[in-house]
Amino acid sequence: AKSAGGNRFELADPEADARAITRHGLTTALPTALERGEFFIEYQPLVHLGDGSVRGAEALVRWLHPQHGVLGPDRFIPLAEHTGLIVPLGRWVLEQSVRQAREWRELQGGAEAVGPLRINVNLSPCQLTHPGLVQDTVDILERAGVEPDALCLEVTESALIGADDDLLKPLRRLAEMGVDIALDDFGTGYSNLANLRRLPVSILKLDRSFTQSMQQFPADPVDLKIVEGIVSLAHSLDLAVTVEGVETGAQADQLRILGCDTAQGWYYARPGPPERLHELALVDATG
Ligand code: C2E
Ligand code: CA
Ligand code: CA
Ligand code: CA
Repeated sequence: AKSAGGNRFELADPEADARAITRHGLTTALPTALERGEFFIEYQPLVHLGDGSVRGAEALVRWLHPQHGVLGPDRFIPLAEHTGLIVPLGRWVLEQSVRQAREWRELQGGAEAVGPLRINVNLSPCQLTHPGLVQDTVDILERAGVEPDALCLEVTESALIGADDDLLKPLRRLAEMGVDIALDDFGTGYSNLANLRRLPVSILKLDRSFTQSMQQFPADPVDLKIVEGIVSLAHSLDLAVTVEGVETGAQADQLRILGCDTAQGWYYARPGPPERLHELALVDATG
């Protein structure tokens, strides 16, 4: 090996090195993983805070890696974004999820008490700038026979900070069609609240950090004020508020009192297979 660059080839941190190797290995394995069907989706219920009914689910992708077992999205979504694979992968997730929503709706048979189950799908910033987004979404909904208002696309607040009109145009088109757009991880991005008016969003997903601060009793008074403020602002702009990361009944109570509309978290259910979601919705509808 060359020695000219000083300690460039020394393994000062074997763990970091192992991580880098894995990262490289995972990156090169990504395209074939999609072809081989190694990805799968878990669904986590979205629960109405007022009456506890299951209203829909968020789709969360996982990778069943032949050597490493099940990998969470934090391990491979950044790599997929970096290599561009996120576009076909994201399209696959959307298609699977919309088909799943269709299946739930068929199982419900129109006899549901609270309306047909809806599906939330995460959208990476790279998909947002991809020119095929609107048409792909239209095609997927049509192929599955699912109305646009059954779908909610979740975009992180940080992806839309300082967004210009070109970036917002596809989201506006989708919103006009009836697709809901949710602002994910809201409250972490320091976005200008007044800016919200400009964005074609109909749902704010309050970041988990706020839910966590509702764990102590009494909760931090400043956090309470902030959540109270966000909720009242959201409602005055006709936006619904979803909270994520609800792990305890105390958090759920607190967030309900603060006026949040929908909740998601381990307290209700961990992400799981599609049958589980349907069971939960059914149990809930029959009593
Ligand atoms: P996210 O969109 O904020 O999703 C919520 C994350 O919180 C999920 O992690 C979920 O499993 C986890 N979670 C749910 N309830 C609780 C709880 O009560 N407590 C705690 N501590 N965590 C909870 P997950 O599945 O590991 O996903 C991580 C992130 O990966 C997601 O964050 C999302 O940004 C991204 N992601 C997942 N699926 C997709 C996808 O299909 N496409 C894209 N672009 N990103 C995805
Ligand atoms: Ca999300
Ligand atoms: Ca989130
Ligand atoms: Ca998050």
